[in-house]
Amino acid sequence: EAHKESHGFQTEAKQLLHLMIHSLYSNKEIFLRELVSNASDAADKLRFEALSKPELLAEDPDLRIRIEFDKDAGTLTISDNGIGMSRDEVIENLGTIARSGTASFMQNLTGDQKKDAHLIGQFGVGFYSAFIVADKVDVFTRRAGVDASQGVHWECSGEAEYEVENVEWPQRGTRVVLHLKDDAAEFADDWRLRSIIKKYSDHIAIPVEMLKQEAPSAEEGEDKEEKAPEFEAVNAAQALWTRPRSELKSEEYKEFYKHISHDFDDPLTWSHNRVEGKLDYTSLLYIPARAPYDLYQRDAARGLKLYVQRTFIMDDAEQFLPLYLRFVKGVLDSNDLPLNVSREILQKDQNTDAIKSALTKRVLDMLDKLAKKDVDQYQKFWDLFGSVMKEGPAEDFSNKEKIAKLLRFSTTHTDSDKQDQSLEDYVGRMKDGQKHIYYVCADNFATAKSSPYLEVFRKKGIEVLLLTDQVDEWFVGHMQEFDGKQFQDVAKGALDLGEAEDEDDKAEREKVEKESGALVERVKEVLEARVEDVRATTRLVDSPACLVASDNDMGLQMRRILEQAGQ
Ligand code: ADP
Ligand code: MG
Repeated sequence: EAHKESHGFQTEAKQLLHLMIHSLYSNKEIFLRELVSNASDAADKLRFEALSKPELLAEDPDLRIRIEFDKDAGTLTISDNGIGMSRDEVIENLGTIARSGTASFMQNLTGDQKKDAHLIGQFGVGFYSAFIVADKVDVFTRRAGVDASQGVHWECSGEAEYEVENVEWPQRGTRVVLHLKDDAAEFADDWRLRSIIKKYSDHIAIPVEMLKQEAPSAEEGEDKEEKAPEFEAVNAAQALWTRPRSELKSEEYKEFYKHISHDFDDPLTWSHNRVEGKLDYTSLLYIPARAPYDLYQRDAARGLKLYVQRTFIMDDAEQFLPLYLRFVKGVLDSNDLPLNVSREILQKDQNTDAIKSALTKRVLDMLDKLAKKDVDQYQKFWDLFGSVMKEGPAEDFSNKEKIAKLLRFSTTHTDSDKQDQSLEDYVGRMKDGQKHIYYVCADNFATAKSSPYLEVFRKKGIEVLLLTDQVDEWFVGHMQEFDGKQFQDVAKGALDLGEAEDEDDKAEREKVEKESGALVERVKEVLEARVEDVRATTRLVDSPACLVASDNDMGLQMRRILEQAGQ
């Protein structure tokens, strides 16, 4: 029985749908990219299931996507012979807009239409972009492997509710029928559709077909009417990463990025490589130009899209990159891993580690190149992901040097909160005889910059790194040194300049120490149990006194973090 049901969307979903329909107005054509992208994902999923159940593909083995339109009826249809959906899946996937992401999505809205439009793809609401151009959407679908009687029809014509019913459906896969709004009638046009497909979906690995255009035929045959319609591929229909680099245009790389990342923005840079020999794989890695809203969530999705011999295996394969590179998006296509590879097998397979270390180097090299080639773009990268990169030295000791070169800091050299000075810059400006890389940690830039610990360093023109990120103290602890120079917290230990002290400084210090002997004793008595020691110093220029931690103490920032954590 048909068992027709009406379902209401949740309130948040309604808002979201409303926003989508009205805010993406200026870039309507992206709906087609989203629907083709879904059809392509559906083909990938079917191929994957068919690895263990070949019969799923057997009846109709050539996967493809078709786009048809009817100008008079004002409809546009996108159909695929991919995995399809069961009734439950339809409700789950098409009935709960943005699923778990809705709440975060709403929180991230800025009210600026252009910015908000960019958020949409990130929250997996691609399907609903259909409503930018359609006032009614019908979906007919049948899950691969089930009977024709198990077809499902989903229908939605507004912002409030949708309907689901069971229908007889002759073939596997999904057909999405858009009833175009009056102001979107332009999309029922062969030329327009072909150019949109070329623009956004050329990289889709299976054919995106349209009806073959009638050649002005010479022979006016009688049986012309009866011929079955013939389709032709409009796109290149080859997995993008399998094509030679020299053949690929930037635009194609960028569109492919949007397809795999669900990002609406262009990436900052990418690296495409074929590796042959002991390991045999192709990787295409991207650095996004935008940080995901869940960059710091432990359970957030991350990792690469994994293919084995061009067959899609899984999304979010996080085994191939270290955590501190979790912002990287891309594809790995391996010829060494077995087709039946699972997350468990991946964890044990020794190829995994070898590929991981190769891809890690690849990303670090790509960043190094970007830093050298385009300072502005690199700065953009650093502003987005710098604090994540600082997790690197702890997690990936073997690449410590490479990572160190990529780091950028605020320092007293510029006295700006822009983190744009490298350690190489710092070392290049070190004073004669200076052996340490000095730093001060604070909760924020203003505090760091006006720290009394800096007074003497400023007086002597010695540069100090101003560290204000949560991870900084921990990071410095693992970094320890750069180019043979130890990191030294200016708030710790003896209040002298050590090796940077010259003869005059030394004489002055000894004089001050002698003269203040009595005062120091007096202060010690008063503070007694509360401090470990009291010392006279020449280090302060404007401030009368300051607190320092002893050399083997935890840093102040670290102590604060532990206190917050209730330790
Ligand atoms: P996303 O693609 O980011 O998951 P979408 O809103 O584009 O989000 O699609 C929602 C879900 O609906 C998909 O994850 C998929 O499960 C399902 N879906 C959409 N289109 C198709 C299709 N053509 N075939 C099978 N499932 C589909
Ligand atoms: Mg999608």
